[in-house]
Amino acid sequence: MTKSAELFQQARKTIPGGVNSPVRAFAGVGGDPIFIERADGAYIYDADGKAYIDYVGSWGPMILGHNHPSICDAVITAAQNGLSFGAPTAREITLAELVSKLVPSMEMVRMVSSGTEATMSAIRLARGFTRRDKFIKFEGCYHGHADCLLVKAGSGALTLGEPTSPGVPADFAKHTLTCTFNDLDSVRAAFEQYPDEISCIIVEPVAGNMNCIPPQEGFLEGLRGLCDEFGALLIFDEVMTGFRVALGGAQAHYNIKPDLTTLGKVIGGGMPVGAFGGRRDVMEYIAPTGPVYQAGTLSGNPVAMAAGEAALTELSKEGNEAHLAELTKRLAEGFKTAADKHGVALAVNQVGGMFGFFFTDKDTISCFADVQQCDIEKFKRFFHLMLEEGVYLAPSAFEASFTSLAHGDKELEATLAAADRAFAKLAS
Ligand code: PLP
Repeated sequence: MTKSAELFQQARKTIPGGVNSPVRAFAGVGGDPIFIERADGAYIYDADGKAYIDYVGSWGPMILGHNHPSICDAVITAAQNGLSFGAPTAREITLAELVSKLVPSMEMVRMVSSGTEATMSAIRLARGFTRRDKFIKFEGCYHGHADCLLVKAGSGALTLGEPTSPGVPADFAKHTLTCTFNDLDSVRAAFEQYPDEISCIIVEPVAGNMNCIPPQEGFLEGLRGLCDEFGALLIFDEVMTGFRVALGGAQAHYNIKPDLTTLGKVIGGGMPVGAFGGRRDVMEYIAPTGPVYQAGTLSGNPVAMAAGEAALTELSKEGNEAHLAELTKRLAEGFKTAADKHGVALAVNQVGGMFGFFFTDKDTISCFADVQQCDIEKFKRFFHLMLEEGVYLAPSAFEASFTSLAHGDKELEATLAAADRAFAKLAS
């Protein structure tokens, strides 16, 4: 028995399913999860000492690679000055200013400790500001695990077959309207049905929790237009896409200005940080300047702020943004070429530092219904073949994969050589 298998057995006795977040359990691909002991650069190492080239990157935060010296030094130095004060610090201003500079639509920024807190708070703010209860989300998009957002959700909820979670009262869920990603008609229909009741639209501008689905031309512009027409706010959930699709997020990549933005993952450099922000008049509506309540004991934690500042400073260095996009494109194209060579039907999507592939003969995957028609069994086999080869992809057909700046030529070549062998086996 491997050490990972032993640990999994032990973990299941005291931790539900042996994991502290469902997707980690490998339910989407079968088999037992590997337990990680340490990580460095582009690699993670399991409890049995095996190395894997990592395309999960802690589900997005590790954009510089693991164990980056700037982040480690910043964390150690900050920790030596005290772990938490529950009082304001200069560093919170530095990070807020940095975020605001990189994402100019975020005129004001409130720090929280997770992406879920960011989206939950942004929705509450939008509801309070507009004095409307309903909001629109898209089928297959995931925005964390707040009650109102676990309706037709993506990510682990989808992987486990529970996109609408039990425990969410129908009285809450009825205010969550679900539309189809990349289908503006479905959004207009919702607004026409409830013209004065919709507070906001929340959207992953590149959907990353039903694999990786970019917005089609005109989709995000259309959402902006509909929000303006019906007096609703537009929230871009950039927890995944922020600083990854581009330094300024998907809003910079597609040149659309949302009213509010939510961030997580990269903003904490691997520490628990989230943030939401946007239009000054809207943000001033939260406590203590406004009536909408929002708070957090560990919000703006000094060690987490130090990690975030180091991560964003490093990432902002000349050339990094273009390099990440270029290497990810090279990888995505390499997967497609290898699949074609072996006659395996594969579609690949990539934007900036995120990518996803679909076992399908369709050229375009644009919404949740398209994802559902892909060959999930083939994905599972591919995942395990790659894992054996020492390549760690997201353990679900409904998750995007991530690259980092630590993925160099050596790692890309090794990944594509492994993919070539895996596709050959899939084809045989
Ligand atoms: N929003 C998006 C787009 C996400 O991908 C996630 C997490 O994967 C969240 C929100 C929730 O973030 P967290 O897991 O930090 O609560």
